[in-house]
Amino acid sequence: MYKMMTPGPTQVKENVRLARAGECGNPDIDESFFDFYKETCELISRLLHTGNETLILGGEGILGLEAACASLTEPGDRVLVLDNGIFGEGFADFVSLYGGVPKKYTVDGKNPIDAGDLQEFLEKDHGFKYATLVHCDTPSGILNDIAVLCPLLKKYGILTVVDAVSSMFGEEVHVDGSQIDIVCGGSQKAVSAPPGLAFVTVSADAKKAMAGRKTPIASFYANLQVFEGYYEAKWFPYTMPISDIYGLRAALDNIAADTDMLARHAKIAAECRKSLTEAGLKLHLQSGFSNTVTVFDVPPGTAAQEILDVMRTEHNILLAGSFGSLSGKVIRIGHMGANANEKDMADTMEALWMTLKKLGVELR
Ligand SMILES: *Cc1c(COP(=O)(O)O)cnc(C)c1O
Repeated sequence: MYKMMTPGPTQVKENVRLARAGECGNPDIDESFFDFYKETCELISRLLHTGNETLILGGEGILGLEAACASLTEPGDRVLVLDNGIFGEGFADFVSLYGGVPKKYTVDGKNPIDAGDLQEFLEKDHGFKYATLVHCDTPSGILNDIAVLCPLLKKYGILTVVDAVSSMFGEEVHVDGSQIDIVCGGSQKAVSAPPGLAFVTVSADAKKAMAGRKTPIASFYANLQVFEGYYEAKWFPYTMPISDIYGLRAALDNIAADTDMLARHAKIAAECRKSLTEAGLKLHLQSGFSNTVTVFDVPPGTAAQEILDVMRTEHNILLAGSFGSLSGKVIRIGHMGANANEKDMADTMEALWMTLKKLGVELR
């Protein structure tokens, strides 16, 4: 097995893997599982600093994004899609699929979205039911300042859907402080559980928007409203993946016990950026570096795939390339969740220097 240093899926600790092996009751019938599910949801709400309800969905991280759009969008609704990255832009597809009219607000992908510029735009046009934005757009590693952008959007009466899948628990996500209506998370990034689960927190305003729809939500599986009253009714819309949720709970308990998590991510990320620049490599972004992933340009004369291959076959370390317009152009080091530890980072950087030297890259 190799050491995973990818920006998701991430390393999964043994206590999380073992928790998944616990005995399985019937999650549709066993009342104690409804308590376990609800308590796990409440733990997520607490870790994200919100009184809003959390729902865990049986599906990959993407399901949360789609469920938010499916549940809020009615045909003809205008939706503001804040786009400075691949996931940011991708929200437009979900909006269109459910009949909405996406309006992309596109800025260059090397800097975070500027609140002043956005405000100028909103002064002229703010007739949107909701806005989508990405906290850390993982393919480039850009971090948008949701603590400033979401309250600004809210001021114009626009609901916010935030994809924080690859930022939360490595970067501060304060849902209530930032007035986020729906925040989307996944099990396989900084949470450091295996892939397979999405979760969302849903505000009272978002619930009101769903309840006030004139048309039915055009999905069952991606419908957040079907969970309404599940606990009282002891009824889930579909059978919950009980073992996945056992694992998620153990991973969240790890996070709750880890008082130093955000500071550790900040330190490791800063060290990583510093070593890369000092070695003469070029960070992909100009500003807005997420503490969960570092992205650097493939040095001239080498290819991304070569670097990845040597890292994996000779050093047993898995790094990631990227996709979309960044495919082949950058290398990503994922230092989020369980990956974010000094030992693995030191091994990774040392292996990276050896790899680049072997490929003929001159380092400073
Ligand atoms: C990983 C990730 C997701 C979820 O995507 P999957 O394909 O389900 O892993 C969503 N948004 C962002 C920003 C991500 O990094």
